Amino acid sequence: MKTVILDMEENNLDSNLIKKGAQMIKNGGVVAFPTETVYGLGANALDTEAVQKIFKAKGRPSDNPLIVHVSSIDEVNPLVKALPKSAIALMKSFWPGPLTIVLEKSEKIPSVVSAGLDTVALRMPDHPIALALIKETLLPIAAPSANISGRPSPTKGEHVIEDLNNRVEGIVVGDDCHVGLESTVLDMTGEVPMILRPGGVTREALETVLGKVEVDPNLNSKEHTENKPKSPGMKYTHYAPKAKVIIIKGEESPVISEIKKMSQNYMDQGSKVGVLCFDETISNYQGVIAKSMGSRENLQIVASNVFRLLREFDKTDVDIILTEGVEEKEIGQAVMNRLTKAAAYRIISV
Ligand code: AMP
Ligand code: MG
Repeated sequence: MKTVILDMEENNLDSNLIKKGAQMIKNGGVVAFPTETVYGLGANALDTEAVQKIFKAKGRPSDNPLIVHVSSIDEVNPLVKALPKSAIALMKSFWPGPLTIVLEKSEKIPSVVSAGLDTVALRMPDHPIALALIKETLLPIAAPSANISGRPSPTKGEHVIEDLNNRVEGIVVGDDCHVGLESTVLDMTGEVPMILRPGGVTREALETVLGKVEVDPNLNSKEHTENKPKSPGMKYTHYAPKAKVIIIKGEESPVISEIKKMSQNYMDQGSKVGVLCFDETISNYQGVIAKSMGSRENLQIVASNVFRLLREFDKTDVDIILTEGVEEKEIGQAVMNRLTKAAAYRIISV
């Protein structure tokens, strides 16, 4: 299949290209497009065959459900069994934005989308291209991240082309994603709302609207791979660059010492070492390929750089990536969650 590349600026939408992309989706095709979180790979959520193409293009396990994207709150009603007041309040506060809400699904949602669950995950993205595309199709769009399963999520058009060129009908290439990490997934089907995946909207922000919010206790634990997680996608190997990743966390100075010591050991064994760190610490790492996620003072920027840097390491021939931990506050929780998965739970506390 020859992929059509649709190049667009988010501040200068090309309505002809939007129509073209929308038509591909309406025809049952699969089209990647930018959102504020990461690039998504979209198809008509009401068309089983079209949705199956997403799983095939990504190599995504069929038991990992997809998020359904809408362009307004009004589009949600037919897709769910019931719409609790609390969910509407959330939508009004955080949509469009990086919050995915899990509700009981209606018959309209095919089981391929929900991977057999009786729930559906819904989100309205905060991105002019994504919104225009969804509006133009007049359809709910099922869209997971537009990467080959297991790889770091794509935050730039070139990442999508790298993974999916000639595997999908179209790729809309826009600007780089502003948030750079996937949405927060919040389960609203239980007694107390529960975060199944941390993301751009923090627990603290959700609690201002909902009162109490729980966090899936298995979120950052290896048990997730062994137990049956509530968010099936969380059990798979994720975000992994080719090199082995190890997180070193703790106070700044022991972390730096440990990374320097480990780097030397690995280099003595003939390994090539990468270090993922911060603006404040990068000058400590010599003789390795060091990359900064940004200043520790700006976790939003750190979040937007993580997936890009993990992919950049794939272009080097490092065998091992030693990464500093991030403080688990605000979006730092989501950053640590993704790094922990990229590291396959290899964490050293100093
Ligand atoms: P991705 O689209 O690649 O960012 O992955 C979507 C995430 O949402 C995965 O972790 C899924 O497991 C999760 N998800 C999607 N639908 C549901 C659902 N109905 N219930 C719980 N989690 C879901
Ligand atoms: Mg994904």
